[in-house]
Amino acid sequence: MKQALWYLIKVAVLVAVALWLIDHDGAVVITWQGYIVNTSVAVLVFGIVAAALILALAVRLWRGLVHLPRTVGEWRRSSRRERGYQALTQGMVALAAGDPSAARKHAREADQLLRDPPLSLLLSAQAAQLAGDDPAAQSYFTRMLAEPETEFLGVRGLLSQAVKAGRRVEALELARRAHGLRPQAPWVLTTLFELEARAGHWQAAETVLHQALRAGVVAAAEGRQRRAVLLLAQSWEAESQGRWDEAWTHAAAAHDLAPGSVPAAARLAAIAPRIDKVRAAVKAVERTWRTDPHPALAEAYQALGGGIDAPAQVKRMQRLAALAADSVEGLVAVARAALTAGQVALAEDSLKRAVNMAPTRRLYHALAAVMDARHDAVAAADYRTQAAGAAPDPVWVCGSCGTVAPDWRPLCGHCGGFDTVEWRLPDAQAGASLIASPVPMAELQPVSAA
Ligand SMILES: [Zn+2]
Repeated sequence: MKQALWYLIKVAVLVAVALWLIDHDGAVVITWQGYIVNTSVAVLVFGIVAAALILALAVRLWRGLVHLPRTVGEWRRSSRRERGYQALTQGMVALAAGDPSAARKHAREADQLLRDPPLSLLLSAQAAQLAGDDPAAQSYFTRMLAEPETEFLGVRGLLSQAVKAGRRVEALELARRAHGLRPQAPWVLTTLFELEARAGHWQAAETVLHQALRAGVVAAAEGRQRRAVLLLAQSWEAESQGRWDEAWTHAAAAHDLAPGSVPAAARLAAIAPRIDKVRAAVKAVERTWRTDPHPALAEAYQALGGGIDAPAQVKRMQRLAALAADSVEGLVAVARAALTAGQVALAEDSLKRAVNMAPTRRLYHALAAVMDARHDAVAAADYRTQAAGAAPDPVWVCGSCGTVAPDWRPLCGHCGGFDTVEWRLPDAQAGASLIASPVPMAELQPVSAA
């Protein structure tokens, strides 16, 4: 609008000047080198203006011609960039759609068009990963380490490759490097914790756990549980080096953090006789038993009363059973002590009550053992038959790999998972193998947790 107005003003001025010149015309005579030119003022002025215009046009044309190559280059570059970004976008879409060959094709295109490695390398790496071409992915991720803006992503890619391939030492080094680059990133904290713990670096794992708690990556309750497991691990380590007092201190701290933890209470009971802490261990076992009457605790409790005679032991186990009224494990514990004391009737009565509550394989085998003590071969055989068809009992199982463990440990002995061993029914296959194995009197022996 403003431009149009300005243009109109210019035209108006020109017309006015032209009209004025025509109205006030006069003659001009130019004498130059023997030539005489007769003309009017108006024609002379228009001639000069026309010559100026032609000159300006010529200059413009010349400039355009001089800058032509640069303009064409810029246009080509921008079109190249546009196609490069388009290839990048299409590559990402292909990646999301799970089409590795299309993703790799677009990644190559983007790489050629953009010549900007940080942009296309990640796409190339992920496309290779999706296609299962680990060596190619590895090389792309490694190239990403060189650029500061892609280093973190490169480390992450290499780390996931290392974890997948089970290269633990390399994975730990990469996780530490990632932690150095972004110490607050949630996946960095959880991965580094897991790797430090799996490597048995308990103190390093605890430091990372502390950071994860502060960053809100791990909830408070979960943090307490993990710390308790780390403390138990340190307790075992101290015990293996003969440092019994330290073993006790760590286990006691774990018990305070997680009073419901069966492994912590069982650990205290296992250490106590060595350093004259039996009374404290008895208290700890009773405390945990109240919320979780577990066979490992019954066994630990019985072991803590080692010096007393069999009838007194029966009374002791009855006191323990009363702390968690009507629990199957309380009845089993009493039956076990009663059988040792020769009180067969009490053992049978306790087990029959227990089997009414939970008719599992272990209890039928235990009843068969009582019948053996009674020299009643027919009843014993009958209980063993029932045992074969009965439900399995819970065991220590790794929740990650499903391996049945003989006792609880901070790390799974099979897959190395941290705090993955839990007390539950085994998986179907493991159950089948348990059915096949004969388990007589030993079935009264609970699985150790210490
Ligand atoms: Zn496992």
